[in-house]
Amino acid sequence: MRKGVPAIEGGMPSRGTFLPYARQWIGEEEIEKVTQVLRSEWITQGPVTREFEREFARAVGARFAIAVNSGTAALHVALAAVGIGPEDQVITSPFTFAATSNAVLYLNGIPKFADIESRTYNVDPGRVEEQISPKTRVLLPVHYAGQPCNMDRLVALSRKYNLPLVEDAAHALGATYRGKKIGSIGRATIFSFHPVKHITTGEGGMVVTDDEGIAERAYMIRTHGIDKDASKRFEKEGNWFYQMITLGYRYNMTEMQAALGLCQLERLDLFLKRRREIAEHYQAAFQEMQEVVTPYVEPDSEHAWHLYTLQVRPERLRVDRDRILSALRAENIGANLHYIPVHLHPYYRQNLNTREGDHPVAEGVFQRILTIPLFPKMTDHDVDDVIHALKKVIGYYRK
Ligand SMILES: *Cc1c(COP(=O)(O)O)cnc(C)c1O
Repeated sequence: MRKGVPAIEGGMPSRGTFLPYARQWIGEEEIEKVTQVLRSEWITQGPVTREFEREFARAVGARFAIAVNSGTAALHVALAAVGIGPEDQVITSPFTFAATSNAVLYLNGIPKFADIESRTYNVDPGRVEEQISPKTRVLLPVHYAGQPCNMDRLVALSRKYNLPLVEDAAHALGATYRGKKIGSIGRATIFSFHPVKHITTGEGGMVVTDDEGIAERAYMIRTHGIDKDASKRFEKEGNWFYQMITLGYRYNMTEMQAALGLCQLERLDLFLKRRREIAEHYQAAFQEMQEVVTPYVEPDSEHAWHLYTLQVRPERLRVDRDRILSALRAENIGANLHYIPVHLHPYYRQNLNTREGDHPVAEGVFQRILTIPLFPKMTDHDVDDVIHALKKVIGYYRK
């Protein structure tokens, strides 16, 4: 192992330019398709968006797809369509982006956190069951980093207590659980098209479901609770009449975004293949290092590898995780942190009375975890830089 001096200690950085932890991959085809839309008559939600929805639904094995303008909006719409209202409790993971539980708060519901499993970092079904009360309305698991949750046990809980599953699959486009695609299991599933995710539309998201009632409500809630597509209203032969049925929002996607999404979706398999290749490279490079814990991969699911995380083992190092993270950044490697457990954020502490100690597994993992760069456009050279930098930093600080 290399024993160079880390840049943070005065040595030379591992590379000259900063490598982010994630970045989109936009090709010429995307630019052309978006330009075509810009030159056309219709630029807000219309036929291209409907085509994107159809293709997306097919890709994840769902009957209906509802395109919206962010993953957060998708969560909001999905929960509203399933029927979350004031005081309704929704059980989710604390080890996620705040969007997951914020969407519950938008509807005046109450997020209840259940601690995670120490190996997969996904919500622990045993802890979920402990949180179920007469006020529970929905189970909202998050497929952390792209590895599916234990869906057999979550589906069993969903049936036993008659609670719909809404899955936050913002990390898990292209993942499968025991041969079933993520998007085809729960009552509704949401995806995000933020630039760091598997495919991007700049900003965007999707709700998918097999349930016609949920789909109909979601289409309405997306656009002010109005029961008609805007494009139909403006067609010459169309009807000028419309009614607002329920309180909805303004969450629709534009045709530019949908055109981008369609092209990206075509390349999803290639993106996934490259993500898996890089993850395997990392696994092989770090498996034998005693100072870090590599991600555990469930044998019977296909990981979508949105994130590649490592846990440092402080007992074998002279410094803590924060120093390792800073040292990697000084090497020009965009290490990052996913996630500060949501229940530790000041807003949650103040408004939901959450506190340190509530979810010890998530809190422990948070102290030791870091994310290293993983995105399909990374070159083999970039991957080698990350491996080199990590070995250098860990080697230097090893006890
Ligand atoms: C990205 C993300 C979201 C929200 O998606 P946006 O498109 O950024 O609104 C929700 N949940 C998780 C777990 C995410 O990573």
